[in-house]
Amino acid sequence: MQSSYILSGGLVIDPANGVETQRDVAIHAGTIVPADSVAGADVIDVNGLAITPGLIDLHVHLRDPGQTHKEDLVTGTRAAAAGGFTCVVAMPNTSPPVDCPAVLEDILSRAGTGGVVRVLQTATLSVGRAGAQLTDAGGLKAAGAIALTDDGSCLQSAGLMLSALEAARDAGLPVIEHCEDESVSRRGVMNAGATAASLGVAGQPHISEDLIVARDIVLAQATGWGVHMQHISTAGAVDLVRWAQSCGIPVTAEAAPHHLCLTELACADFGADAKMNPPLRRAADRDAVVRGLQDGTICALATDHAPHSADEKAGGLRGGPFGIIGLEAALPICLTELHHSGVLGLSDFIAKFTVGPRAVLKLPYGTLSPGCPADVTILDLDREHVLDVSSFHSRSRNCPYDGRRCRGKVVGTIVEGKPVFSELPQLVSEGIA
Ligand SMILES: [Zn+2]
Repeated sequence: MQSSYILSGGLVIDPANGVETQRDVAIHAGTIVPADSVAGADVIDVNGLAITPGLIDLHVHLRDPGQTHKEDLVTGTRAAAAGGFTCVVAMPNTSPPVDCPAVLEDILSRAGTGGVVRVLQTATLSVGRAGAQLTDAGGLKAAGAIALTDDGSCLQSAGLMLSALEAARDAGLPVIEHCEDESVSRRGVMNAGATAASLGVAGQPHISEDLIVARDIVLAQATGWGVHMQHISTAGAVDLVRWAQSCGIPVTAEAAPHHLCLTELACADFGADAKMNPPLRRAADRDAVVRGLQDGTICALATDHAPHSADEKAGGLRGGPFGIIGLEAALPICLTELHHSGVLGLSDFIAKFTVGPRAVLKLPYGTLSPGCPADVTILDLDREHVLDVSSFHSRSRNCPYDGRRCRGKVVGTIVEGKPVFSELPQLVSEGIA
């Protein structure tokens, strides 16, 4: 692959610039450049395909270090590339957790050499994710942390969260939050209600999420420091975030594809492969999350890619761990269920994976503006196919979408001008095919 080339004839969707039209995209030395500035460059015909900024996933678990039997930096970033993601934000609940510069620097260094997409690493709010003592926000920022979170759980003490937000503000680090009051959720294995009762398992009430969203809105207002609410899943959480935004309180929110495309009823069909935290909710919650996505209350879609081994998931709905893999299913599932179904127009849909995440963490990615890094995703919007989880690049298989018929497919992923995934004969991948 030459250092200069032109993706020619595709439908370019670049929400940051209000672009949704057929035009050429030119790349030179890893950067987007004006199409008329690279005379003589290779021309790659992408007629009939959609060209978008490289997709950003604000929420993945790469399990490295410590749980590399589930995923590691190589397999996780390959799964990301195959899923169209050029940048992933990795959660810090590894083993050991990312609570000090040494662990953080080790991950970033290995991701830089072995990863095929950009890995932005978060660090924990509390030492050991134990919820008792705060980490050194300034030291973690200096070591390269992109944000702070105890994801998997959250600080249960409002007083400690207040101190955490003040420290994050002073260090200039975003705070992202898994919203769950454990004194209410009691780590129930699915959403509380009639379905949990009929399956004979302990449920967690939706208010465990609503309570922390409400608390953090109050704390964001008090400190003037933003909180990004991760994977919101309840009607109450959407209403609270919408209200806070209308008051000018600096909160943002993401939603995960499974909370938009499945309900708690899936727990009966898929058992442990429908077990995640927050859990799948009622249809009324799903509909509220869809409305939040449509009206902009929720600015980002994030997979919460959470790999687990088959042995662990064999514990079933009761005993298996929380989480499903999402990187390679997200685009086909969401294009089918959220775009082709009419929930979101094309630019709005792509914005949830590009300008939305870009705004939350103030990233330089997520647009095709000249001068920006040449991170690009190529989609065949109308390709019909059946999801085959056995073909995924992820090391894990915990996914309820196997065999789902989808419309829309990722066919190419380019990071800083370098193709890292391609199904197109005209675009030779130096990463995976
Ligand atoms: Zn979480």
